[in-house]
Amino acid sequence: MLDLKKIISHSKEYGFIFPSSEIYDGLSAIYDYGPFGVELKNNIKNYWWKSMVQENENIVGLDSSIFMHPRIWKASGHVDAFSDPLVDNKDSKKRYRADTLIEDHVIKIQKKIDKEILKGEKRFGDDFNNEKFQQTNTKIIKYNKEIKAIKQKLNSSLQQDNLIGLSELIDQLDIKCPISGTNNWTDVRKFNLMFDTQLGAISDVASKLYLRPETAQGIFVNFLNVQKSARKKIPFGIAQIGKAFRNEIVARQFIFRMREFEQMEMQFFVKPGDEIKWYSFWKQQRMEWHKKLNLQLGEYQFHDHQNLAHYANAACDIEFNFPIGFKELEGIHSRTNYDLSQHQIFSKKKLSYYDTEIQESYLPYVVETSVGLDRLFLSILCGSLVEEPVNNEKRIVLKIPPFLSPISVAVLPLIKKDGLSNKARSIFNYLRSKFRCQFEDKDSIGKRYRRQDAIGTPICLTIDHDTISDDMVTLRNRDTMLQERVAIKNLPKIIRGKLDI
Ligand code: ATP
Repeated sequence: MLDLKKIISHSKEYGFIFPSSEIYDGLSAIYDYGPFGVELKNNIKNYWWKSMVQENENIVGLDSSIFMHPRIWKASGHVDAFSDPLVDNKDSKKRYRADTLIEDHVIKIQKKIDKEILKGEKRFGDDFNNEKFQQTNTKIIKYNKEIKAIKQKLNSSLQQDNLIGLSELIDQLDIKCPISGTNNWTDVRKFNLMFDTQLGAISDVASKLYLRPETAQGIFVNFLNVQKSARKKIPFGIAQIGKAFRNEIVARQFIFRMREFEQMEMQFFVKPGDEIKWYSFWKQQRMEWHKKLNLQLGEYQFHDHQNLAHYANAACDIEFNFPIGFKELEGIHSRTNYDLSQHQIFSKKKLSYYDTEIQESYLPYVVETSVGLDRLFLSILCGSLVEEPVNNEKRIVLKIPPFLSPISVAVLPLIKKDGLSNKARSIFNYLRSKFRCQFEDKDSIGKRYRRQDAIGTPICLTIDHDTISDDMVTLRNRDTMLQERVAIKNLPKIIRGKLDI
């Protein structure tokens, strides 16, 4: 897999992603999607929406507002608890997430283990038995013990909201600031991740609003509106795509962690007691959905949560192997009836559902699937962008699933002259209403192929002198670079076949 630096520069050079406000030196962790980025993003959104809403009879859509009543965030727990532990280094004045500093320290120890394993592999050659080696090597045993103890203390401190415990751990491990190299830290304190703003012209506390940090709450507060208007019976789901905002303490790693991002969430409402069955169902479904993308370099794994949030009774992440390692791509959570019951208390409105089958009212339980659109975008980019040798040169190809490609078909006259450009234009006009097409007649044909490879166009059609007489074009396949002659009149059918999901 290419490293993140390469992915970032490719994204900018080929019009996928630009740093926001770049001419003003950018805005940290905020990004803009360029001409090809927006196409790809829309295609990903459509694919998700289709697989959720169109293909599931019992899932309907919603587009709720970004601003919501401030009490919603009190009810959901975000005002009091949506925070990360923050620590400042007094010398560099740099700010860190305390838990991330500790996790990074663990990664350093893990790297020492990897080094020992490498040494062992070299020493024992073919006889090397990794498992046995790790069980008997005294250094590795010591490192693993250290990791276990750190993780235990970190998790229990996080769970109990024990900020002093985190401070102690940072001191005890003698963690130093990567910038100043000193261990001169402030106390760890809480930092709420919600952005706030004012409603209307008069500024007072009552008019304080939050930019939503997740789209889910818009679904919960509309639960009965949707259920009644769409005439849905439990179990059913509500899907939503929309912007979310989090004032992340440290936001490096490109579009992996942004302060303004998009989520694609689906809340599935079920009968109490059925939630674990549905949780398992959606856990498998979502993993299959990701794997079906069939990325060139797509590695996924589950990470089951050991420490559950107080409102959850099961939770896991689907992790993707990014250039920065396996990281969360999507969360699947069994959220019990926590959110609905909180909104019922805070709004003083009944949110229960009358189940005609069992003739009983209850507050439904909820299973949530929540994926970051930008993170999914990044996973697709990282999993598809490859560099490969061609005739003593290198070509960079975005081997993205064809149905997601920003441009499906490039129409390329071999040369501009001899009526080839006009012929190509007429083919382009014939196809553009059916497919996402691009017409290009500048530069040599080889250069144009490379450019289309770099943006992931699966099909290039080349119009040459023979096209004028035989009404056939050369169709070039992005991945194999193989070429075939096909009749213009058959193009729609052939292209449709190649773009099929
Ligand atoms: P993380 O542990 O990485 O901070 P999270 O557990 O807080 O993520 P959730 O609240 O479960 O994330 O949000 C659901 C999904 O939204 C995540 O799986 C991720 O894909 C996406 N997401 C969350 N925070 C961000 C962010 N700052 N930038 C981009 N995507 C994000």
